Order: sequence, then structure tokens, then C-alpha cells
Amino acid sequence: MTIATSGPRPAGQRVSDPVTMFGPDFPFGYDEWLRHPAGLGVMPPARHGTPVAIVGGGMAGLVAAYELMRLGLRPVVFEAEQLGGRMRSTTFEGHPGAVAELGAMRFPPSATALFHYLDLVGLSTAPFPNPLAAATQATLIDLNGRGHWARGTDDLPGVFQEVGDAWAKVLEENAAFSTMEDAIRRRDVTTIKTIWNRLVLELDDQSFYGFLAASPPFASFRHREIFGQVGFGTGGWDTDFPNSMLEILRVVYTGADDRHVRILGGSQQLPLRLWEHIPDRVAHWPGGTSLAALHPDGPRPAVTRVGRVDGGIQITTAAGTQTFPAVVLTPQVRLLLTRVDCAESLFPTEVWTAIERTHYMGASKVFALTDRPFWQTVNPATGRPLMGMTLTDRTPRGVYLFDDGPQAPGVMCLSYTWNDDSLKVVGLPPDERLDIMLRSLGRVYPGLDIRARIIADPVAVTWESEPNFMGAFKANLPGHYRYQRRLFGHFMQDALPEHQRGVFLAGDDISWTGGFAEGAVTTGLNAVWGVLNHLGGHTPGSNPGPGDAFPAIAPHELPYV
Ligand SMILES: Cc1cc2nc3c(=O)[nH]c(=O)nc-3n(C[C@H](O)[C@H](O)[C@H](O)COP(=O)(O)OP(=O)(O)OC[C@H]3O[C@@H](n4cnc5c(N)ncnc54)[C@H](O)[C@@H]3O)c2cc1C
Repeated sequence: MTIATSGPRPAGQRVSDPVTMFGPDFPFGYDEWLRHPAGLGVMPPARHGTPVAIVGGGMAGLVAAYELMRLGLRPVVFEAEQLGGRMRSTTFEGHPGAVAELGAMRFPPSATALFHYLDLVGLSTAPFPNPLAAATQATLIDLNGRGHWARGTDDLPGVFQEVGDAWAKVLEENAAFSTMEDAIRRRDVTTIKTIWNRLVLELDDQSFYGFLAASPPFASFRHREIFGQVGFGTGGWDTDFPNSMLEILRVVYTGADDRHVRILGGSQQLPLRLWEHIPDRVAHWPGGTSLAALHPDGPRPAVTRVGRVDGGIQITTAAGTQTFPAVVLTPQVRLLLTRVDCAESLFPTEVWTAIERTHYMGASKVFALTDRPFWQTVNPATGRPLMGMTLTDRTPRGVYLFDDGPQAPGVMCLSYTWNDDSLKVVGLPPDERLDIMLRSLGRVYPGLDIRARIIADPVAVTWESEPNFMGAFKANLPGHYRYQRRLFGHFMQDALPEHQRGVFLAGDDISWTGGFAEGAVTTGLNAVWGVLNHLGGHTPGSNPGPGDAFPAIAPHELPYV
């Protein structure tokens, strides 16, 4: 593979190339790196079997562990809670077959590195029932006390079309949308960089709301309000209004909020299957080796301290200490300031500043199990289903409906909220949250007795109050670009002093795309490259990795003045 750094790739390029999460900050083809027959890299045989600590068994940690195992190293995974992290699926008491997705639940096909692993472990997907999506029987948009039923966007009143047109116009005029989307399809790094470097300079200081309010097509407050509620893709983006506009552009350019699918059997299947997966090709280890086989007693317990001693990086748990030549750290970095006592000398001061500044979204969800998907029944009086996927400006915000056929129990995500909406219920037990959501939905669907259909105790989560997470996912505020660049680029360590090398940050909050598992996977892969380089290995000449490409395509550097 060659990394396209100069202009469009004429050879073999198809106009129908899909939009992928290729850039815009670091336009590296992780999918191409992963599928190249030469593999990700080669370790010197003397290094085979070297232990590498992987702190955290979520997607970033398990991808890093899996690939380092394939390179012949010995990943040692530490996990404070359960494998999977924020890919957490749970069931209802007494109903082991019905899944509630407490964390990640919908995945865009543009997340091609994530889909590499989905395909590898043989998981199937189905369209996700997002608002107004083809897989959604009906959507109810409840705004300012008025409900609007729709099957697709065309069924909505004219003002919604006006808002959609305004968004398209703003993206085109202020963010060169179609040129950028086309460049991402063609993996035209020069065009991506030309557009994005300008926008980073112009918009790092701008919030999503500020960007809209300053745009003539959104001069009307009502348009901004409707947009915040319905917006694009999954809707309900008004809780992102304070975030940097760059965060929003990353999502829309790369199709990250589009054509979502869910993982049949639950999102957590992916990390759990990766743990068990036996690779076809693996250096050093005998056939049949998997992460599970390398950890016969399961992952090691929670890490309480990370420090440096002569000979390496020392990891401490309640069970003792062990020294490693390299460590991959994947818990949200907020935990390095709180629950993990991390030696200050391990990172440069400017990286610590970035860790301190990292901003997280909060998120809560409330789930209920019903005897069957009763909402599909058509009300003869209205000709509409009893309930639809619901976007509302009331407390529940987003209601998602899942079914496994007309006779099986139905799973209702009665509420999915972010930030202030999530904080409204923080600290309340699941039963009380259920009461609150049903009371509110009773006003949206008068006369519909949802409670009568519920057959199990509710399930609920608030990620900002989970001690091993302390936030749902990273979301940069205006002015945070420089901090994000420091965290993302930290895997490039050749210029660091010796005592600051060997610890690699990875995960959702290190990536440019917080809230999307693709960023956890790709930063896990950056850490693989970092460990390979640190321990004297190299990538095949025909398949350069993210660190090889970094000097040519590094994220744009803003002046620090
Ligand atoms: C509510 C919610 C909805 C989301 N929706 C989507 C979605 O629809 N689509 C999508 O693509 N992405 C979504 N995401 C984002 C996605 O879940 C994450 O990007 C991804 O799962 C993060 O993986 P990670 O490995 O970076 O971190 P994590 O999954 O957080 O893994 C880190 C692991 O470290 C462990 N840990 C913490 N402290 C320690 C310690 N001291 N010692 C050892 N282990 C420790 C944790 O228990 C955890 O298992 C969502 C996330 C949330 C919270």
C-alpha cells in the first residue's frame, strides 16, 4: 500500500467509493493497513514473548492486545470491571435473551476499522431503528407540545424541510461539504488537508451553536431550535451545541451518523469474541493461542498505580506489582487524575495539561422489557402504530424500540440522554427513573398504558457516575484542538526523553472521534505501532503503519502563542 499524500488517486479509483472515517485530522487508511497481506509488522525474534501491559479491556485495549499477540508479544490485560468497557450489553433479570445496550448501540458502516473486527469474529448486524430511518416503522417528533408523525423526512411539515435545507446550505457554503466528502471517498489527502487545515484555524474557537447562530440560513431561532431537536442522523444534537464545531464536522463529513446498524446479540459480543478469537496467522505462539488462552485466570485486576522503575514501567494492582517494557493505557484519561495514581514524570507537562482539560459528555439510558413489541399494533382510530421511535424535547429525549419478532418480548430504550438531560436523573434508582419517563411519555402518548406491558425490572445507567469511566465519551469544547492533538500524537515518542517513552495512550478520548468506537479501535492500532517501534520491531515496507505515515499527514499544528 502507498499512502496517498498528494492529490487524487487516479488508478483503480471508483466514483462509488464509500464515505469512510478516513480523516479529516489524520487521513490514514487503517482499514488498508489491517487487510494488507504483509501484516502489521515484524518483531525481532529475541523480543518474542515479551510482556506488554494493556490497561483496560474495552475495544482499544482488546484490539491492541489482539494485534500485539499476533506480532508475537505477550499482552497482559488488566481490567477493573468487565471485558468490553463501554460496549456493554446487559440483560433483564429472568430474561437472558433480551439485550439492553447500555453503551455503544449503533455503528456506521463508514467505521471500517471497527467493521474489520466485526467481520473477523463473524458477527451479524441489522439496520438500527433511528429516527426517520428506513428500518423504523414510524417516528414521532414531539416538540413544543406538538407531535408530528412521519415515516420519512418528506412527511414532516414544511418548516422541517426548511431546516434541512438550511443545514445543507451552511455545510456547503461554510465547510465545503461536497468537496470534502468527495475527497474522503477518493482518499485524496491533499484536498482533505487543504480544506481541513483552514477550517481548524477558522473554527477551533467556535461552538456548534455559535456557528449556527452566525449563519444567515439559521437566522431564525425557531430553525435553530428545530435543528437541535431533529438535526441530522440520530437527532437530538442540541446537547452538543456547546461543543466545538469541528467535532460536528468530523461526524458529518465521515458519515458517522448515517446508515447505522446494530450488532445482533449485543455490542459486547465484539470485545468478548475478540478475547476468544484464534488468529489464522500469529508469530511465535503455537496454533490455538488466543487472548483467553494467554489469560487462563481471566484478565488481571484494576490497576491502582503506574510508575517508572529501573528497567521499565511498573504496574500495581491489589495483587502486587509487575514491571513491563511497554504499557498501553486505555481507561478514559480522567481516571489518570483520580483512581489511578500515575507518576507525573511519565508524560510531558503539556500532555498532562491536555489530560486535565479533556471534556466528557455525560449520558444516561433507561430500558424496559415488554411482553411483546406492542407498539407495532395499528390503532384503528388513527391508522398509526400505537408508538413510534420518539424524539422529544421532554425529559426522555430519545425513545428507541427494538424487537425480535412479533411474539418475542420487546426492548424499549425509554430514554437516552446526554449532558444536562442526563444529569436530571443522576443519582436516582432505576425504578424512579422508569416512573419519570413513563409520566413524561404519558403526555406524549395520552391513554397509552406502557407500564401494563412491562414484564421485568428496568435497567438504567449514568456513565458519568460509573467509577471506572467518569464520563460517557470525550467531546472537545471550543479551543481544545491543540490539547486533542497532543493526546492523539503522543504515540510518536522518538523525540521524547527516554524516561517518557513506553507508555501509550489509546481509546475513545485519545481519538478525534469521541463517542464512536472507531476512534477506540484506531487509537488502539496507533498504540500497536508505538509498541512495535518502541521494542525494536518494524512495519513491512509494503505496508507502512500510522507512525510511518505521521510525518507526512500529521494533524495540522495550530500556533501556540
Ligand atoms: C452511552 C454511550 C453510547 C455510545 N454509543 C456509541 C455508538 O452508538 N456507536 C459507537 O461507535 N460508539 C458509541 N459509544 C462510544 C464507544 O462505546 C466507545 O468509543 C468505546 O467503547 C470505547 O472503548 P475504549 O476501549 O476506548 O474505552 P472503554 O470501553 O472505556 O475501555 C476502558 C476499560 O478500562 C477499564 N478500566 C478503567 N479503569 C481501570 C483500571 N484502573 N484498571 C484496569 N482497567 C480499568 C474500564 O473498566 C474499561 O473496560 C458510546 C459510548 C457510550 C458511553
